[in-house]
Amino acid sequence: MIETIFFEQQIAEHPTTQRIRSALPRASWVPIDRYQELFNKRHQNFKLQKKNPALILAKKHDNFVLPVPSGFGMDSHKSFYFSHMYNCLYDCKYCFLQGMYSSANFVLFVNYEDFFTSISEKIDKYNGKTLTFFSGYDCDSLAFDKLSGFADEALNFFSDFPNTELELRTKSIAIGSLLQRRALSNCIVAFSLSPAEIAKSLDSKAPSISRRISAIKQLAGAGWKIGLRFDPLIYTSDWQKLYSSLFSEIMEGLDPSMVHSISYGPLRFPKKMYKKAANLYPDHKLFAFPMEEANGVISYGTTIETQMHDFLKSELNNYTSENKIFQCIT
Ligand code: SF4
Repeated sequence: MIETIFFEQQIAEHPTTQRIRSALPRASWVPIDRYQELFNKRHQNFKLQKKNPALILAKKHDNFVLPVPSGFGMDSHKSFYFSHMYNCLYDCKYCFLQGMYSSANFVLFVNYEDFFTSISEKIDKYNGKTLTFFSGYDCDSLAFDKLSGFADEALNFFSDFPNTELELRTKSIAIGSLLQRRALSNCIVAFSLSPAEIAKSLDSKAPSISRRISAIKQLAGAGWKIGLRFDPLIYTSDWQKLYSSLFSEIMEGLDPSMVHSISYGPLRFPKKMYKKAANLYPDHKLFAFPMEEANGVISYGTTIETQMHDFLKSELNNYTSENKIFQCIT
């Protein structure tokens, strides 16, 4: 439950701010000038803030839409990402957000309309080319959706551009706004998944794997295209068995034609980020594993990565055609 909401005075009357105000009338509402004053302040206690984060409502002014890092999107498409939020309700131990910002508070940019204007400009600029826009890069696309109402507005916008893809990437089961409307053929709801035992230990606060799988099946049954994201792959003594049963649990009763794409990627951290995350969870076994460092990147190393890649590729081929399977290396 959010107890404190800081809001930039310039967006006090914005409809999104007003809607959140009526949803959370008992929270303390504190006016501020610019969100950076709070969010970028140095020496904040990330771990302490994460226990009871505040919400900051702000206006974004620039850089609404950015090109995805190489290896993130599907090869044949021109891809961009956008983040209507910074930080996440969940607390996955490997998440780059653990070390990215000095604050654990959530920032929600309420001026969704400016994101959509910027997306329209990109569509005009690349007229004729298949574009994909990824939501959920600096946040989870749906975790905050009951309050933010973002998905509904984004889907309204993308319904006017049937040749442009939107990917909503999530671990959330807040799929109500999607189920209430007709499925959009250009929207992919992409779920990040790991074997249940691994998710229990690493995906703190996120819905369990069985609940995510149930959300996938409900959405697919309602006609939504599904993306399956196994990124990062986590190495354990019995990882083959775990990933193999995860795939069969997901695919059981799921119409394979509803699977838009499957991607997987190795666990990787920039060195600085690895240090920050390891400092936050010094006792977690993820950070006790003897990782390797190459070119400033910490990973399991090529031997393990290759084993995992080969296994995943061959297992996933049992469920879908090869052209739907992608490896992400960012
Ligand atoms: S759900 Fe995604 S964005 Fe949120 S903490 Fe986990 S990995 Fe990070």
